[in-house]
Formats: sequence, structure tokens, C-alpha cells
Amino acid sequence: MSTTLRRHEMFIGGEWTPGAGGDAQEIVNPATGKVIAHVPKGSAEDVDRAVAAARKAFDEGWSDSTPRDRSERMLKLAEAIEANGDEFARIESENVGKPLAATKSEEIPPIVDCIRFFAGAARLLEGRATGEYMQGFTSMLRREPIGVVGSIAPWNYPLLMAAWKLGPALAAGNTVILKPSEWTPLTAMKLAELAADIFPPGVLNIITGDGEPVGAGIVRHPGVSMVSLTGDVATGKEVAKAAASTLKRVHLELGGKAPVIVFDDADLDKVVEWIKIAGYFNAGQDCTAATRVIAGPHIHEKLLGDLVPAVSGLKVGDPLAEDTEMGPLVSEEQLTRVSGFVDRAKKAGAEVLTGGARIKRAGSWYEPTVVVPKSPDAEIVTKEVFGPVVTVQQFSDEEQALKWANGVDYGLAASVWTRDVGRALRMARKLQFGTVWINTHIPLVNEMPHGGYKHSGYGKDMSIYSLEEYTQIKHVMAALD
Ligand code: NAD
Repeated sequence: MSTTLRRHEMFIGGEWTPGAGGDAQEIVNPATGKVIAHVPKGSAEDVDRAVAAARKAFDEGWSDSTPRDRSERMLKLAEAIEANGDEFARIESENVGKPLAATKSEEIPPIVDCIRFFAGAARLLEGRATGEYMQGFTSMLRREPIGVVGSIAPWNYPLLMAAWKLGPALAAGNTVILKPSEWTPLTAMKLAELAADIFPPGVLNIITGDGEPVGAGIVRHPGVSMVSLTGDVATGKEVAKAAASTLKRVHLELGGKAPVIVFDDADLDKVVEWIKIAGYFNAGQDCTAATRVIAGPHIHEKLLGDLVPAVSGLKVGDPLAEDTEMGPLVSEEQLTRVSGFVDRAKKAGAEVLTGGARIKRAGSWYEPTVVVPKSPDAEIVTKEVFGPVVTVQQFSDEEQALKWANGVDYGLAASVWTRDVGRALRMARKLQFGTVWINTHIPLVNEMPHGGYKHSGYGKDMSIYSLEEYTQIKHVMAALD
């Protein structure tokens, strides 16, 4: 099956373009290993053109648009995405290897809701009360857009991550240059087709290509006022460093290594049910995935006894089949990364209870895996694998559970499983993570912020907090005489 996408070009200033250099990049379906599209491999010249188009759109109208105007256009975009939801899901499934049924039910609705949320929020920007804080002078606040925003997205949820970035940026009155991952640009291009009829030229631009020169070119560009990256910690550090030379605002949503702390009194059936989902959804290629189980001394063995058959029974196969629970990894490179982690863990003495090997078929497939590591400091426990691999450790008491949970560089998300409300809230307070779930793991809502502590980055996606980050506030003070 080949994609019916009409456009495989960049979208700059309201026009489709093959890119200045004319080079193309192959896009592969990881479920088959076959090339499904060619897209332009962008250059520094394309970045320049996109920045010029976005700047022009900002200066010549979008920054003066009313919240209501932006809101109405965004509602139209949400409606268009919803109407094309099945096609978006199919493209995403082909390009990323995602199970189609889950993409339709679990990804498209929150994407539509995200755009609708920010369409509403566009009309509700807030500030402190205007008043006379010095006698004879009135002070007031203006909340203004920042300018041209560069949005750089990863490959694991291409359209969802784009929505998390475009929603607040456009709602606040910025213009946007979106750079999807070089592996998964197809839904962004489909999005541009819909946006072309809704937004003025240059408000939303899509440029494709590699991290260098396209992503890094956006970050270096003096015409870009803010850059928002979702990606790896190492990329985040590069971006922060490069952005320093122009002092542009930086928003970083980086990797994670979520602990799942299971106390002895937890509801074990629920724990296993949720780890099966949250550890292996999207083949574990999720920054909040339930990858690091830390279980109490009296539940640990029973948990393994229930979890291992549940994981080995996951239906892995054709992403287009209705009952498929797990598809392939996104690419051969990702497969090499994941199998490298597990092979090194085995060499270091870890026990693999299920999985632990490549599935031999065309494409990039890996078995759902459960590992008992040799030590709490093992690489497989402390570094992000970003694949269908869950580790299970046994803690002795609450203090040790907390120490292990917090003992990594990442700080994106964590979950606590217990029937003891006091303990759950105590843990929620002490866990150094941007999201803490109690007796669940993975659901997010557009009204609440999502973002990291520590090396998982700074800045929030989703919610009104995110919208505020795409604005700058100005104090206007007037003498009354
Ligand atoms: P990545 O860092 O390799 O790439 C992300 C994007 O950055 C791509 O578009 C890439 O082309 C671009 N890029 C690469 N080098 C760049 C540079 N020097 N300057 C500017 N842009 C550059 O990440 P990935 O492999 O695509 O995505 C997986 C990572 O994303 C994982 O670590 C995952 O945890 C993280 N992630 C985080 C969240 C979150 O909400 N915190 C969500 C999804 C994914």
C-alpha cells in the first residue's frame, strides 16, 4: 500500500517548493523496509527563505490579528484534521510503524483536542491587574507574541508533537517554521495541505531535512525569536548552546526514563495491565514510557510472574491489522540502538525474562522485552533505551525506592502504585519529575502541563502554561498628569 499524499514538497510562504538544492531523502516504512516517499532534503537556503516568509507574515498581519480571528482559523484546522483523521492515522502508521487502530483511537482525538484547546485559550490570555502602583502613574501589562518560532519535532509522535508546538505558538500570534524529523515528515506535509487554505501565507511553514543544516540552521538564524525542540537530551544541549549566540528563547522537551514504583499494597492486576500498555505502546518509543519498574519486596516476584506472560503475549505484527498491539521500531538505526542496550545489559549480567532479540522479518522489529538488571546503576536502568524494554528491580523500603527513582539524570514522568493515600502524596511531593501519576501511567490531558525536570528539559507543552511561554510580557506605564 502506498500513501495517497499529494504533496511531497516543503511549504514556505504559502507555496510548495522542492527546496533550493533539489536533493531528496528516502522515507521508509519500518514495517516493510520499503521506500514509501521521497521528500526534499532542505538546506540553509531553505531556512533563510522560511524565516523571511515567516517574518513577513508576522510583521504584515498575523501579529496584529485578533485572538478571535486566530481562534476561528485554528478551529477550522482542528475540524480539517478530524475530517482527515483516518488518512493522518494511515500515513503515520506507514511512516512510523504505529498500529493503525491505536493511532486512530489514541492519537488523532488528542491532536484535534489540542488544537481546539489552544483555539479557546487564544482568547483568554491573562495578566495582572492594571493599576496605580506608583502615585500618579498607571501600569498595565501587554502579553505579546514573540515573533518567528522554530518548532523542531521528533519521530515518535510526529503529528502529536507538531500539534503541541503549533497550537500555543499560533494561538499567541507567532508565526511558525515546523521542521519534522527527517525520518517522519509525511503527516506534517499533509497538515500543510490543510493549513494552506486556512492561514495567511507564511504563518505556518514546513521545511524538511536533517538536524544539520535545517534544524541547527533554524536555531542559529538571527531572524528566529524562539526555538522549541522535542528530542534527545544531547540534541537539547546542542540547541541550548547554539541558541545562546542569538539569545533566543529556548523550550526543550527531552528524553525520559520513567520509574514505576509499585508498593506491596498496590492493585497488581491494574499494575500489570498498565505496564503492558505504557511500557509497550508505540513499541516503547515514548518519552514517558513505563520503562523502569521498582517493586516492593512482597510484590516483586508475583509482579514478574504476571508481567512476563502478559508481555510475551503482546500481539506484535502488521500495523494495519485490527488486533495488533505492537508494531516495528521506527528504523534500522533505532533497532541497532535498542538491541545494543539489551546486548550490553546481558553481557553485564542482566537476566532477560522474555524477548531480548530482533524479530527476523523485513523491516525493523524487536521483541517486547523484560529485563532484570544486575544493579540499580546499570546502563539499561539509567539511560533511555526508547524501545519495548522494561526493567524490573526490587526495592527494600520507601527511602530506597525514592532514591532509585530519582537517581537518574532524567525527570519527565513517574508513577506510584499504592492504596495508601498518604504515601502516594508523599512520593508525589518528593519525586523529581514533571508529571507524577498515582495508580495509573501515561494519560495526559490538554488542560494540564507536560514537561521535564532536570535533563528532561525546561518549558511546558500543553495547557495555559505552554501558551504563556510563547508570549512575552510588556509593562506599559503612563504618567497621569
Ligand atoms: P533527536 O534529538 O534525534 O531529533 C529531534 C529533532 O531534532 C529532529 O527533527 C532532528 O532532525 C532535530 N535535530 C537533530 N540535531 C539537531 C541540532 N543540532 N539542532 C537542531 N535540531 C536538530 O530526537 P529523536 O530521536 O527524533 O526523538 C526521540 C527523542 O525525543 C527521545 O529522547 C524522546 O524521549 C524525546 N521525546 C521527548 C518528548 C517530551 O515530551 N519530552 C516527547 C517525544 C519525544
